[in-house]
Amino acid sequence: MVIPTEPVGSIPRPPDLIAAVAKKGNEDPDLQPLYDAAVYDTVKRFEATGSPVITDGEQRKYHNFWTYSVHGLRNTAPDGFRIPFAAGHTRRMPRLTAGPFSYRRYADEDMVAAMRYAQMPVKQAVISPSALSLMYPAGGIPGYSRDEFIADLLREHETEVRRCLQRGAYNVQIDFTEGRLAVKVDPTGHLLNSFIDLNNLALSRFSAQERRRIGVHTCPGGDCDSTHSAEVDYAELLPSLFQLKAGNFYVSLAGEKDRARVLQVIRRHLKPDQRVFVGVIATIDPRIESREEVRERIHEAAEYIPLEQLGTTDDCGFSPFSDDTSTTRDTAFAKIRARVEGTALASEKLGRR
Ligand SMILES: [Zn+2]
Repeated sequence: MVIPTEPVGSIPRPPDLIAAVAKKGNEDPDLQPLYDAAVYDTVKRFEATGSPVITDGEQRKYHNFWTYSVHGLRNTAPDGFRIPFAAGHTRRMPRLTAGPFSYRRYADEDMVAAMRYAQMPVKQAVISPSALSLMYPAGGIPGYSRDEFIADLLREHETEVRRCLQRGAYNVQIDFTEGRLAVKVDPTGHLLNSFIDLNNLALSRFSAQERRRIGVHTCPGGDCDSTHSAEVDYAELLPSLFQLKAGNFYVSLAGEKDRARVLQVIRRHLKPDQRVFVGVIATIDPRIESREEVRERIHEAAEYIPLEQLGTTDDCGFSPFSDDTSTTRDTAFAKIRARVEGTALASEKLGRR
């Protein structure tokens, strides 16, 4: 295939797993067989779509893509950073109450569990340092400075990415959904700039060769078929995004109102050693795209992006939050199949140019 295609990550959890977690909490040992079954089913169905790269569907990421690594830490309180969604609901992050900061779990464990069942390459998504930096309270923590926190955070993030790379990840994707949200929270751009700087500090710890296997995902958020920052102009984010020292970018695009304008901005700011995977599947739209529709979206993107720097992806995960039941597994896999088949159609045509 000329044009590479990859998922972003999450697949809706099976309803019996969601019900059991709601009843017993996420760490009850009784849940183990349910988690295993969910991962097995996800891997098999993912492979059946023809997707050349798969994920474990984040079946074990509790409670979401943002806090899975820190959920259950004793030195946290539940009243941290608030994410408001357009549908009216909010999601809340934990707040750090004392140092030192460390992760409670690393995502490579999930990846290795999926690899036991997988024939195809498995990629792994991890949360960005900038997202977790929001755990540190504005008022500070006595005896544990922000600088000490950032040092601990960068160490933990680097550890997680290295573990994924060393244990055979096809690549690692850093979830950076808060990039666009940062522009909404702080229209001056200072918050976004600080996020870019922080994430570049982390990326700088990797060699150029390693960074070719590291990517960054951006989107306006996706929860219960709603977004948190879709109204923010992409042109406020994308120039900064491509300053990140990563090799691959997974940019939601299918759900955008003016795709051509976004593609123009990408063309202007994408660097020669970077590849952009454009979203061709609108993950929060229940309608299943046809493969011809996907092909047309890729032809449109190819008018702006050099073919050797173009890839396709889904706009976002299908259920970044583990209890989100707004999309069924059947719908998610049907949409992934449309992405894979539509990308193959476009590759056939564009490859002959
Ligand atoms: Zn996303």
